[in-house]
Amino acid sequence: MPDVLEKISCNVCESKNSTPYLVINGFTYQKCNNCGLVYQNPRPVFDDLKKRYGDNYFEYEISNQENFFRLMKLGLKDIHFDILFKDTLDRKNFLDIGCATGLLLNYMKNKGWNTKGVEICRQSVEYGIKNFGLDIFIGTLEKAGFPDNYFDVVHFSHLIEHVPDPKALLYEVRRILKKDSHIILTTPNVDGFQARFAKEKWRSAIPDHVYLFTKKTMRTLLINTRYRIIKQVSWGGIPIGKRPNFLKRPVDRLAKFFNIGDVMLFHCRPC
Ligand SMILES: [Zn+2]
Repeated sequence: MPDVLEKISCNVCESKNSTPYLVINGFTYQKCNNCGLVYQNPRPVFDDLKKRYGDNYFEYEISNQENFFRLMKLGLKDIHFDILFKDTLDRKNFLDIGCATGLLLNYMKNKGWNTKGVEICRQSVEYGIKNFGLDIFIGTLEKAGFPDNYFDVVHFSHLIEHVPDPKALLYEVRRILKKDSHIILTTPNVDGFQARFAKEKWRSAIPDHVYLFTKKTMRTLLINTRYRIIKQVSWGGIPIGKRPNFLKRPVDRLAKFFNIGDVMLFHCRPC
């Protein structure tokens, strides 16, 4: 049965005024004429979006889990995470939203964090519970219903571009954060070198990504939902296997230096 589609307005500024940005076989990204947000419109309703995170998605998560884990650790290194939390981790709470098979949560748990996860793909949750004994909620963050002022760190990597209402997600994250806390989020950068070069063929322009952010639109959304940005970096110049390997390393360095990388990371604190 085909997906049920809905027309939406801009999640950042609520404008309904937009222009087609990328027209791909089967779906369209519009760009907000007011704030520049790129979003799928029309797009499948959430009940249909949820169906995508089944067996096939689990296979994808399993085959990529080591690579994703390595990249998440590099992201934490970029913001000097271990130095930020070099003191006791006693009763410090770490949440990973969209935690997939739980490799990062398991790593944090072994370091002494009190960890919790949220994940919509049931098969991934079962894997994380069975293999690592993790505490993972199956579903969305809003349904998990965590207490107010609970987490010291909320991490979400490659999650916000999948959710139907990023603004609501950030408000809910803010509610469950302690006052003196941190968020770390990563998402593809539609203004990066790769996206500009590849256009419709960009590896992140896929049906599961209902939003594509730029540094500017993500910054605006974070500020609007009352976060203070501590650090923003981006990385990734050329995808692996696409160009001669001798070019990959220098182009990756340049992409990071000029902050035009394929994936961007925001380290923020609530304000
Ligand atoms: Zn807008």
